[in-house]
Amino acid sequence: MSTRPEEHVLLLKKKLARQLESGDDTGALAILDGLSRVQVSEELLRATKVGVFVGKLRKHENSRVADKARDVVAKWRRMVKRDEAAEKPARIDTSRTTPLRRSPSSGSASGPPSPGAGLRERTVTSDDVAYIRTGNAVRNKMIEMFYAALAKSSTADADRIMAKAVAVEEALFKQFTTPDTGYRARVRELYLNLKGDDNPALREAIVSGDLSPTRFCTMSSDDLMSEEQRQQELKINEENLFKARGAGQQEAATDAFKCPKCKQRKCTYFQMQTRSADEPMTTFVTCVVCNNRWKFC
Ligand SMILES: [Zn+2]
Repeated sequence: MSTRPEEHVLLLKKKLARQLESGDDTGALAILDGLSRVQVSEELLRATKVGVFVGKLRKHENSRVADKARDVVAKWRRMVKRDEAAEKPARIDTSRTTPLRRSPSSGSASGPPSPGAGLRERTVTSDDVAYIRTGNAVRNKMIEMFYAALAKSSTADADRIMAKAVAVEEALFKQFTTPDTGYRARVRELYLNLKGDDNPALREAIVSGDLSPTRFCTMSSDDLMSEEQRQQELKINEENLFKARGAGQQEAATDAFKCPKCKQRKCTYFQMQTRSADEPMTTFVTCVVCNNRWKFC
């Protein structure tokens, strides 16, 4: 008598639950072994909820059961990945970003994370974190990108970070309703801001819950900037003003200004209207001795 794969898996799951309940870890291991030989698909895992069930066993007190569960989950994940690869999903251009790397220590690590664990690169694979996949390979990939960005230099719990990564992607997807070019461009913008070396506050705000995923997804590029980036931007604008002398504007040499840095009176200056026409001109002064620059109105 042959059964459908779904029934077969459900039967094994039921048996497994019974063995675990009665404390028969050896029996449970045998069933996990059987489960590892089942050809699974994303739909099957989802329909039977067996993925979640076995996923939880990775934290089982018996390390043999936990290890076995980890093996099974890893094997299923590879199967589902192969399915996805066969679907040939549209690719997002991530060439300028850090690719999701498989940590060499993945899979073998068990026990509590070491104190420095938050400092190495964390990915869905290296953290071995489970999540309910969407039916779309592009969206799943984006969730994993957001995970890696949010987990950067974070010591927060993997499940917590994953919940936020899923919520961010979901909020974005709601805006676009389809993973099209616009969606991918926005994902990319948010992702790059999120993983920026100078923007840890943004990541922390989301993981801690201070900034809601929905709000994050509606932030403008200005809002997304870190304080450091904002200062940098101001500086660049100012530099540009110093460089923006038009052809008619000669820099005049003068001893009218004293350089606050080197205390000498050898400066050039020019004036420019930087604000509205009825306000006074801004004077840009450059010290020819030490190249110090300043401006005043
Ligand atoms: Zn000077």
